[in-house]
Amino acid sequence: MRTVPTTIETDILILGSGGAGLFAALHAKKAAPELEVTVAVKGLLGKCGCTRMVQGGYNVALAPGDSVERHFMDTIEGGKWLNNQELAWTLVTEAQVRIRELETELGCFFDRNPDGSVHQKAFAGQTFDRTVHKGDLTGIEIINRLSEQVWRRDVRRLEDHRALELIPAADGSGLAGVLMLDMRTGIPVLVRARATLLATGGGPTMYKFHTPSGDKTCDGLAMALRAGLPLRDMEMVQFHPTGLLAGAGTRMTGTVLEEGLRGAGGYLLDASQERFMQHYDPRAERATRDVVSRSIMRRIRDGHATPHGGVYIQMSHLGPADVAAKFKGMVERCADCGFDLAGGLVEVIPTAHYMMGGVAFRPGCGTALPRLYAAGEDTGGVHGANRLGGNGVANSTVFGGLAGSAMARAVRGARTLAEPDPHGVEAGLARAYGPLGRPAGDLEAIREALYATMWDDVGILRDAAGLARAGERLDGLAAAVAEAGIPDGDRRYNLTWMDRLNLENLVLVSQAIRAAALARTDSRGAHFREDFPETSDLATSHYTVVRRAGDGLDVTMEPVAFTHVRPGASLLDAAA
Ligand SMILES: Cc1cc2nc3c(=O)[nH]c(=O)nc-3n(C[C@H](O)[C@H](O)[C@H](O)COP(=O)(O)OP(=O)(O)OC[C@H]3O[C@@H](n4cnc5c(N)ncnc54)[C@H](O)[C@@H]3O)c2cc1C
Repeated sequence: MRTVPTTIETDILILGSGGAGLFAALHAKKAAPELEVTVAVKGLLGKCGCTRMVQGGYNVALAPGDSVERHFMDTIEGGKWLNNQELAWTLVTEAQVRIRELETELGCFFDRNPDGSVHQKAFAGQTFDRTVHKGDLTGIEIINRLSEQVWRRDVRRLEDHRALELIPAADGSGLAGVLMLDMRTGIPVLVRARATLLATGGGPTMYKFHTPSGDKTCDGLAMALRAGLPLRDMEMVQFHPTGLLAGAGTRMTGTVLEEGLRGAGGYLLDASQERFMQHYDPRAERATRDVVSRSIMRRIRDGHATPHGGVYIQMSHLGPADVAAKFKGMVERCADCGFDLAGGLVEVIPTAHYMMGGVAFRPGCGTALPRLYAAGEDTGGVHGANRLGGNGVANSTVFGGLAGSAMARAVRGARTLAEPDPHGVEAGLARAYGPLGRPAGDLEAIREALYATMWDDVGILRDAAGLARAGERLDGLAAAVAEAGIPDGDRRYNLTWMDRLNLENLVLVSQAIRAAALARTDSRGAHFREDFPETSDLATSHYTVVRRAGDGLDVTMEPVAFTHVRPGASLLDAAA
């Protein structure tokens, strides 16, 4: 049966409804209320993605004594000088605007000090307590208020719609629209738009242990690769050191036990219940995320793993009653899985948390493809080699807002729709619908093999031999996914079909991560090569760029432009 897409036309199309997507919708409507704005999302608006899961909070220089220069320097030092400094500067300066907007225009209630000022807490890697929060459920507050505001505006919602492919214009002038799939009916939908925002939130869910929401499968990054866009810093995958080990077959495994546990004095113990972090770093359990994650993996590899393959976290020496009072949410999360965090030992393992890499973009959120904009965790360059906790939600809301305004400005001056390239549409339909009716593949086996390959060979400790092995395995997995059919003819909410589409994207983006990891022959931030353990000269720092080349991927190294400050210098010196 031939599949012909339903066509929808809109001025602005936004893919994703996290902090980036929702802010883009609000800003686009604010800048140009007459424009038609469509938000298309793989789940339900306001109920999916990772912004909703934000626990710790939002970094912004607000308090006396803090400054945008200080926030900027923390971001650059944390990123090991790989950041695009224009993007990082935009982040720290616009975060001040966005947080006021969240409070005074959108109605977010953040925690306050007794004197009425906004409470800001300490987060790792920062020289000032600048993390704004709402208890430890900051993301729910932000997304609920954003969703309410979007609902009350005239914004079209395409829920349970997944983006399949970016469709270029027939005349080569840029993007014409996006081929989507209405998951409820199984019908393809071609959304033609004058401007489109990619805000699908990345998400390293190709690793055996991971934290992001299940709807995130790197779809935006895979679509960008297929469309020929450059992705930068793809080797930079952040692991959170303490993911819960709750056994196989539960999504609770991999979820985060927050950093504050170690900050408050929690211990990490090996199988023989001995502390070990002091052997690896003088800061012991309070070392940064990358250092603690690497140390745990070394301890495990050296034969000191707990029964389920991790290490223990112990809090009981701080007084079970105090721990239960201070870390209520974490204690309850562990109790739900049968563990006593306050009084006993809980098994933990590092867990893939965030991708610093993504689509190369400019401070105004434009990309290399005209009419395509990008924001949030789909983008690369803001964080460099490491993201500070609290800079993730600042990133998505800051750049989402900027993208909305920029798209509105651009569309007001260009009211014509580009003609979609029919070959692009055909290819997208063939990719998505081709497997239907063909013999089934073993998707579960493919997923397990992907998890193991990425965890073992493209994970926290990397070397050339492991990356080479991973290359072969990923090529094999790509072939296995391509071969896998979906025999069930019913297209409505066909989760096996969705699973296959997810895996195809995850394998492609895994290949990009592996290629960039092989190309970077030094260690910095989240990327550690055991065969190149040193960090190369910061003054001649280069970042990786991965592009599609024929059937494969090409990686180049581009020099970092130190537009605000050079390694060895500080904006704080200049301000003093
Ligand atoms: C457990 C956890 C805790 C965190 N805590 C913090 C914190 O304390 N502070 C901080 O700064 N950051 C934190 N982060 C990171 C933060 O959540 C992200 O940096 C940020 O919110 C990402 O925003 P986004 O808008 O780019 O993506 P998301 O909020 O993830 O939204 C992505 C959207 O895209 C949609 N989508 C995906 N694929 C498709 C498709 N094919 N078609 C259509 N739609 C699609 C999704 O359904 C979703 O709506 C945390 C992350 C996790 C997982």
